Amino acid sequence: MTTTTTSTDPLPDDFGHAFIRGVHESVGGAAEALGDLDRRAGDGDFGTNVRTALKLAAQNIETEQPATYRQWVTTMYMGWLGVGGTSGPLFGMFFRDLAKAADGAEGESARVRAADGAGSPSLAQFAGALAAGQATVQKYGEADVGDKTMIDALDPAVSALRSAVEAGSSPSEALAAAEKAAVDAARATAETTAKRGRASYVGEVAKGVIDPGAAAIALVIGAARAAADGGDVDTAWIR
Ligand code: ADP
Ligand code: MG
Repeated sequence: MTTTTTSTDPLPDDFGHAFIRGVHESVGGAAEALGDLDRRAGDGDFGTNVRTALKLAAQNIETEQPATYRQWVTTMYMGWLGVGGTSGPLFGMFFRDLAKAADGAEGESARVRAADGAGSPSLAQFAGALAAGQATVQKYGEADVGDKTMIDALDPAVSALRSAVEAGSSPSEALAAAEKAAVDAARATAETTAKRGRASYVGEVAKGVIDPGAAAIALVIGAARAAADGGDVDTAWIR
């Protein structure tokens, strides 16, 4: 894989494919553990929701034959939008914002946007899309940091990625910093009780249990990092 050196260079052409393959491997591989967390601190449907979303996403890959970054990420957002629970629409809208990463900034001509949309986003564009995804999830889900949701992992990851982009870090370094921030924050959700979603009904029972949505977000960002550096995503901490 070629390495990009600045945050405005496009990520490698196969970034979208590698990213989405990594989401299938890491989130799919952890589906049992994620479902178990939701059984202990929620209503237990998250594992099923994850499996259904990934199955629909895999079917989309078969029928759509994605080639570009935007097409690869679209197979994932369409998969999640086909799922119920709170997480289906929220992850769906999150991935839809990620899919738009390479579409270009407001004010660019349609021709430039279309050309950009055919390729991989730059690291800076990916960081912007991650921030847009967070804003969308918060707009519709109304969760704040500390409510024991996916936002707890997403918010520090967005900040870490933005800082790394501003510092001129390479894509692998920047995404590794975002992944670490997300994993640390997801693990720290074990210390809190949920204020959103069906996990909020169980109150103190959720103490000691990692929020499964926050853990899933950490794996998604890990998959983006793995797409940049060719490594694996650690899922062993999810239990
Ligand atoms: P439900 O809470 O409806 O059972 P799922 O089990 O499918 O939904 O998904 C649970 C995950 O969804 C939680 O771990 C949490 O991270 C995330 N979540 C739930 N409600 C919200 C919300 N309002 N905003 C952001 N994320 C949320
Ligand atoms: Mg649930």
